Amino acid sequence: MSENPHFPNRRDFAKKLAAGAGAIITGGTTASAVDQINAKNRRKPLPTRPGGKGSKTVELSKDGKHVRTAGSVSADGEVFQESARNIPVAADYDVVVVGGGPAGFTAALAAARSGAKTMLLEVNGCIGGVWTSGLLSLIIDGTGKPGIMMELLAELKRRSTGHAIGASWVYDPEAMKLLLEDLLLEAGVQMRLHTRVVAAANDEDNRLRVVLTESKSGREAWTARSFIDCSGDGDLAAQAGCEFEMGRPQDGATQPMTMMGMITGVRTADIAPFVRGSSSLQKHGNPKKNLLEEMRKAGVSPSYEGPTIFEVRDGFYAIMTNHQYGGSAIDTNDVTEATLQGRREVNHLLAALKKKGGVWRDLELVTTSEQIGTRGGRRIRGEYYVTGEDLRDGKKFDDGICRVEFGIDVHSVDPKKTKAIEKKPYKSQPYDIPLRAMIARDVSGLMMAGRCISGDFIAHSSYRVTGDAVTMGEAAGVASAVAVQSKVLVGAVPFAEVSKVLGKVRADAEKRAGV
Ligand SMILES: Cc1cc2nc3c(=O)[nH]c(=O)nc-3n(C[C@H](O)[C@H](O)[C@H](O)COP(=O)(O)OP(=O)(O)OC[C@H]3O[C@@H](n4cnc5c(N)ncnc54)[C@H](O)[C@@H]3O)c2cc1C
Repeated sequence: MSENPHFPNRRDFAKKLAAGAGAIITGGTTASAVDQINAKNRRKPLPTRPGGKGSKTVELSKDGKHVRTAGSVSADGEVFQESARNIPVAADYDVVVVGGGPAGFTAALAAARSGAKTMLLEVNGCIGGVWTSGLLSLIIDGTGKPGIMMELLAELKRRSTGHAIGASWVYDPEAMKLLLEDLLLEAGVQMRLHTRVVAAANDEDNRLRVVLTESKSGREAWTARSFIDCSGDGDLAAQAGCEFEMGRPQDGATQPMTMMGMITGVRTADIAPFVRGSSSLQKHGNPKKNLLEEMRKAGVSPSYEGPTIFEVRDGFYAIMTNHQYGGSAIDTNDVTEATLQGRREVNHLLAALKKKGGVWRDLELVTTSEQIGTRGGRRIRGEYYVTGEDLRDGKKFDDGICRVEFGIDVHSVDPKKTKAIEKKPYKSQPYDIPLRAMIARDVSGLMMAGRCISGDFIAHSSYRVTGDAVTMGEAAGVASAVAVQSKVLVGAVPFAEVSKVLGKVRADAEKRAGV
């Protein structure tokens, strides 16, 4: 049994989880500090399910069996007509955030830190989205951002698990999982992992009221006064009836998907010409070109002609080597196909390098990502639509909540033209994302944050990176919490009020960062 306060025994851990005292593992924040931050927002035990026979979370029928569905296949064999049934309401919240990627993590954290009773629903078994289940390992456009982004970078550094390379940050995805969980638990955010949002229901005023999930616990309903879609692909907003776009305007074609991986068995001193990283390595020329050439010498040709190795630490690296062209992120057959092909290609490329020997002789693939990285999903229509012209003109807004520095970055849509990055149509300048681009136009009570906000194909290729997803999530979480506390819809809150609370949340995060 552990006596270490940072590693409590299992019984204490369960007790603290249920009570909401979250700062129990690492990070150096004590439970009493938690009480000072947000005393009203304690984590509550998960609700007891109606009809259950002693079970707290699994829906059972009165005789203790699994709840059945009923219905029949139509005469033409085209559809299964499912009978109506009652869905238990799992719980009610001020704010429900769907998707725990960089945007959703921050939205939930900021909402809870603003005093809202907050639930984060995530389909994967960890928080972080492309950061963790996608093994991304590189944060772009996070440096110089205020608030929670600054706190995260400081905490990565403090835990010796992240460092800057130029304007970007590399981190260890495994350590990132724990860091994100620590911060959410400490703030009293309730998390439900392994839970997919599958449907939404609006009231007669077209206000989103309920989301429906599927999980091992069955089909459940969750109610809230404000919802934030951070699913990356805009699942919730689409289910609620919002209009959306996907891909480029002429044919809807989207950027390719990529299967990330982690490697070991090599040392930076030996493979320096191929590693994107510290400035001391720059003397070796362009590492992407060097790696492409090296792979060709090994007899293989990657589908992404800008293959990249990022040094997480000496001996442990992230790799980005493939492009899966032509699939849709919201067609599960396509995503499955891309996943199978991507994983096969990563294995094939690395096996060829290892076979080449020399500095690669002990190369090992540690893991490929559980979730293939999808660059382009639904872009939900908001009250403002960010355009490529806004980037070109460096547009600023009175309700600007995120200054994007990263430029246009379209990964090849057509492998016949290029298998790398497409030529930029024009140069962009730093520009603002206005809060209105995150407020759904077609359904009330709903915001978006991250890559599914309202904008065109070119603009999306820039603002989708994770430093910006975090900063958008922070503002969406605050705005939703303020709307709930003011008892109005999010679009009706004067921006000055959002700005005041956002300033406070940012100042608090910067204090934690030690600024
Ligand atoms: C291969 C690749 C490389 C990239 N390179 C970089 C880079 O180097 N640096 C950088 O900063 N950015 C990079 N990007 C862009 C960036 O990673 C994404 O745009 C970013 O993840 C956006 O964050 P998000 O939170 O909006 O979405 P996501 O990270 O996609 O998170 C969405 C979350 O929602 C969950 N979810 C989805 N649907 C549901 C549902 N129905 N119910 C419940 N949960 C759901 C997902 O499991 C996931 O956790 C890259 C993207 C890809 C794909």
